[in-house]
Amino acid sequence: MRPKILDKLFKPIQTSKGIGPRLKIKLKYLVGENIVDYLWHIPNNIIDRSYKPKIASAESNRIVTINLTVLKHKPSRRRGLPYKITCIDETGEIDLIWFNARRQYLEEILPIGSNLTISGKIETYKKRKQIIHPQHIIKEDDKNSFQEIEPVYRLTQGLTNKVLRNYINKALEITPSLPEWHDKELIKRMNWPNFTSAIKDIHNPKNLDDLDHENTSKQRISYDELLANQLSLALISKNFEAPKGQKIADKRKLVNNLLNNLPFELTNSQKTSIKEIINDLNKTERMIRLLQGDVGSGKTIVALAGLFHCAGSSKQGVMMAPTELLARQHFEGLKDLCFKSGININILTGKIKPKERKIILNDIANGKIDIIIGTHALFQEKVVFNDLGLVIIDEQHRFGVHQRLSLTSKSIESPPDILIMSATPIPRTLELTAFGSMQVSRLLDKPIGRKPIKTLAKPINKIDEVIKSLERLISINEKTYWVCPLIEESEKIDLAAAEERYHQLNDIYKGKVGLVHGKMKIEDRERVMREFKNGKKMILVATTVIEVGIDVPDATFMIIEHSERFGLSQLHQLRGRVGRSDKLSNCLLLYKSPLGENAKKRIEILRDTNDGFVIAEEDLILRGAGEILGVKQSGLPYFKIANLNIDRQLLELAKNDANFIIESNILGNTERGKNLELLLHLFNKEEALKYLEAG
Ligand code: ADP
Ligand code: MG
Repeated sequence: MRPKILDKLFKPIQTSKGIGPRLKIKLKYLVGENIVDYLWHIPNNIIDRSYKPKIASAESNRIVTINLTVLKHKPSRRRGLPYKITCIDETGEIDLIWFNARRQYLEEILPIGSNLTISGKIETYKKRKQIIHPQHIIKEDDKNSFQEIEPVYRLTQGLTNKVLRNYINKALEITPSLPEWHDKELIKRMNWPNFTSAIKDIHNPKNLDDLDHENTSKQRISYDELLANQLSLALISKNFEAPKGQKIADKRKLVNNLLNNLPFELTNSQKTSIKEIINDLNKTERMIRLLQGDVGSGKTIVALAGLFHCAGSSKQGVMMAPTELLARQHFEGLKDLCFKSGININILTGKIKPKERKIILNDIANGKIDIIIGTHALFQEKVVFNDLGLVIIDEQHRFGVHQRLSLTSKSIESPPDILIMSATPIPRTLELTAFGSMQVSRLLDKPIGRKPIKTLAKPINKIDEVIKSLERLISINEKTYWVCPLIEESEKIDLAAAEERYHQLNDIYKGKVGLVHGKMKIEDRERVMREFKNGKKMILVATTVIEVGIDVPDATFMIIEHSERFGLSQLHQLRGRVGRSDKLSNCLLLYKSPLGENAKKRIEILRDTNDGFVIAEEDLILRGAGEILGVKQSGLPYFKIANLNIDRQLLELAKNDANFIIESNILGNTERGKNLELLLHLFNKEEALKYLEAG
C-alpha cells in the first residue's frame, strides 16, 4: 500500500485543452503518466531573460524582457503576411510580429493601451526593432510568477516549453515535504538539501552551473534514485539467496563426453565459463550466475555443459526459453549431443498434446528425463521433478530476471542452482544496477571462423537498388531479414508500412517472402518463422525483434528500415541475426535523410565495431541525449536523474548503503526504515517491499 502522503503525486496529470490525444501519447512517452513523473523530467538548459533594457538601448539579437504599452494593431492583409502590433516605452517604438496568428486572440491578450511585459528575441528589420513571436506576454498581475531564468526541458513536437513548465510547476507545488530517509551523517557530510528543496532547486536553476551534475541538489536526487534501485535489488536478492543449495558432482564424467563430441573447438571464454559454472555446481552454496554473451557467442553449449554435469550426478536440469520457437530450436540443436552421451532430453511446451504431456510429466516426476527444455510457462505450472539440480533461464534480452528467480525462491528445501543467460551485453556500469551482486561469466570472444558483418548505410531513396540486389542472394540460397520498426505511438502507420513492404517484395519474389509482427497470432508467427528457417521463404519482413534468439545460419543479409529510429544496442542485436556461419554477411541500415547527429554517430559506431560491449558503453553515453525508444525496449534499468557516466561513485555508495540497510534490518523496524519505504514508492520500486514480509 502506498503511503497516503504520496497519493497526490501518483495521479495522472491533468492536461490542458491544447493537448490533443496524439500529443497526450507523446507526452506520456516523453515524461510519463503520473504527476510524479514530471518531477523527474529535469531541465537540460536555461534561457536567461534577465536583460531588461529600454527599447532605445536594447541590443539586437538578444533575449530581452521589456515593459511596453500597446499602441496599435496592424492585422495581416492576407494569409502569410505578418500581423504587426506596435508598442512603445518612453524611449521608442518596437513591433511585435506574428505569422498566421488569430486576430481575435491577439486583440484579447494585447488590447490597445495595455501595459505588459514582453520577453523574446529582439531583432532589427528595416531599421526598426522587432520581436517575432514573443515567448512570454506577461500581464501586470502575473509579473511575480515570471522567471527571469527560464529552465529549458526536453520537448516533443507540438509541446512548448511553457506548457510543460506549467505542468512541472504544478507537480512541484503539490510535492509534500517528506521525512529524511538518508543517514543523517551522510546528509551532513555531503551537504545535501532535503528532498523537497532539492527537487525544487533542480527545476529552478539560477545559472548554467546549476545544471551541472556536481550540483548538490542534483547529487542528492541522483542518490535517491540510485539508492531506490540498489535497495530494491538487495531486497529481492536476499529473498532468493538460500543459505544452502546442493552439491552436484559429475560422477559419470559426462561433460568430458560432451566436449569430445563437439564438432568445433570451444572458445577460451566458453572454456572459462564452463569451469566457473562447474566450480559453482560442485559447491554446497546455491549458484546464481549470469552468463553474459553477445549474440552468437555460443551460450547454449556452455549451458549444456552445466546440464551434463548435473546429469552426471543423476540430477535433473531445466532450460527455459522465452518462446515456443526458441525452446524447439534448443531442443532440435541439443538432442543429438544428448543422445550420444545417453542422456534423456525432452521438450515441454504449451503445444504438446495432453496425452503426450502426461507421459512427459510422468517421466519428469520419476526421473526418467534428465533434461527438459521448455518455455517460461513451464515453471508457472506445477511440474514435479524427481530431483531438480539446475535451472537455466535463456533470458535473451529481457530483464525480469529477479521476478523469474522468485519462482525458485527459498521456500524449496534444497533449491536448484540457477544460470541466467543474457544476450544484451550489459556495460559494466549497468551490471550492478541490473543485477545487484550476482556472479557473472562472460563470453568475450566469438567462435573462430566467424566473419565480421559488413555494415553499410544508405538513404531510403536507394530502395529499388536494394530490392533488386536480393535476387542474387536468393539465387545462391542466402536469406534476408527485412526489419521495419514499430513504435507504439504510431503503431498503425508503421504496421501498414511493413505490410506494404511485404506486398511489394512478394510481388517481385513471389511466394518467397514472409511477414511477422507482434499483432499476429503466435501460431501464425511461428509458422512463418519455420518457413523462413527451412527455406520455403527467403525473405522475412519483420516489424520488431520478436524472435531475439533465432538462429538461421544461412541468413546473411539484414536490412533495417528507418534505422535512425532504433537505439544502438537494438541495431546491434538485430545485426546479430546474421553472421552466424562462415559466409560473409551484410547489414544495411536504411535511413531517411537528413540524419540527426545522434543517428549519424550510431551508424558510425556500428560500421566501426562488432564488439557488443563497446557498443553497449557507447549506447549508454548516447542515450543521455534521450533516445526514448532504445531505452524502453531494451528493458535495462533506466535512470532519469542519475547519470551513470558521472555518478559511479554514488552508485558504489548506494550499493554499500543498501547492503547495510538490509543487514541491520532497518526496513520495517525503524523510523528510517519507514522513510526508506517512501523512497521506494517514489521511484516505483515498491514491488521489492513484498520481499520484506517474505524474508
Ligand atoms: P547465443 O550465444 O546467441 O545463444 P548460440 O549458443 O545459439 O549463441 O550459438 C550460435 C551458433 O554458434 C550455434 O550454431 C552454435 O552451435 C555455434 N557455436 C557455439 N560455439 C561455437 C564454437 N566455439 N565454434 C563454432 N561454433 C560455435
Ligand atoms: Mg541463445
